[in-house]
Amino acid sequence: MNPEESESAERTRAAAMQLLRSLHQSGVRQLPAAMAVSQVASPAAEATEPQPAQATPAIQAASAIEATRQHTQVLTGSNRSEGLEVLAEEVAGCTACEELCSARTQTVFGVGDPNARLCFLGEAPGADEDRLGEPFVGKAGQLLTRIIQAMGLRREDVYILNILKCRPPNNRNPLAGEVANCRSFFERQLDIIQPEFICCLGSVAAQNLLDTTISIGRLRGKLHDWNGKKVLATYHPAYLLREPDAKKKVWEDMKFLLGEMGLKVPGKE
Ligand code: SF4
Repeated sequence: MNPEESESAERTRAAAMQLLRSLHQSGVRQLPAAMAVSQVASPAAEATEPQPAQATPAIQAASAIEATRQHTQVLTGSNRSEGLEVLAEEVAGCTACEELCSARTQTVFGVGDPNARLCFLGEAPGADEDRLGEPFVGKAGQLLTRIIQAMGLRREDVYILNILKCRPPNNRNPLAGEVANCRSFFERQLDIIQPEFICCLGSVAAQNLLDTTISIGRLRGKLHDWNGKKVLATYHPAYLLREPDAKKKVWEDMKFLLGEMGLKVPGKE
C-alpha cells in the first residue's frame, strides 16, 4: 500500500469508527449481517456526495464496516483495541437469539492481545464464563491456560474468543441459527485482530469457521485456510477433561503449530 492509499484507508477507518460510535450512541445495536459491495458508500465520500434516500443508518454503518474490512491491514495497536471496544459494545446490546439473550448474565466477547499472532476460537461460553464475562475461565479454560503456558506463551500473548457470545442453556451445542446470527461478530472480531494463526478448539468452532462437516479427527494435523489465515483444528479442552488420553494428540497439534509459527517447543533444543 503506497502512502496515499494508506492515508485514504486511515481516513476510511476513522470515519467508520466515528459512524459506528454515533450509531451506537443513537441506539443502533444491530446491523445487517451482509451487504452487497455495490451498496458500499465510502464514509470519506459522505462529506461531498449526498446519501441515497434509501440509505438507512444501519445500511450506512454496514457500508462503513465493509469499507473498514477492506482496510483492516492498517488497524494496529490502539486502533485494534478501539475497533474491538466498539464491536464489543454492539455485541453487548445484541438480542438476535431470543432464548440466549433472555437467559444470559452478560455477553462474553473475548480476551487477550488485540495484536495477537494466534487466536484460540472456542464454541460458546459456559456457566463460569457467563458469570465472569470472560471466555475459557472454568475448568476447561484453566486447562487451556496450561496448554498455552506449556507452549511457552501466556494468555495475554494470544487472543481467546468463541463462536457464540452468549451461553446456550445447559451448555447445549449452538444451534445453526444462533451461529448464523453471531457469525458477523466473530468474523469481524477476527478481521480486526488479523491473526496469522487461528486454533479452533473442538468441532463446533472448526466446522463453523471452515464451513465443513468433516470431523475434528480428520481436520486436525494440518493447516487449513480461512480468509488468508492459517487454521489448525484440535480437540476442545472440555473433551480432554473427559478423555485425558487425547491430551497427547493435542500436544502433538500444539508442537506442530509452534513449528509453523517459527517458535521453539519449550524444553527442546
Ligand atoms: S449469541 Fe451472538 S447473535 Fe445471539 S444474542 Fe448473543 S451476541 Fe447476539
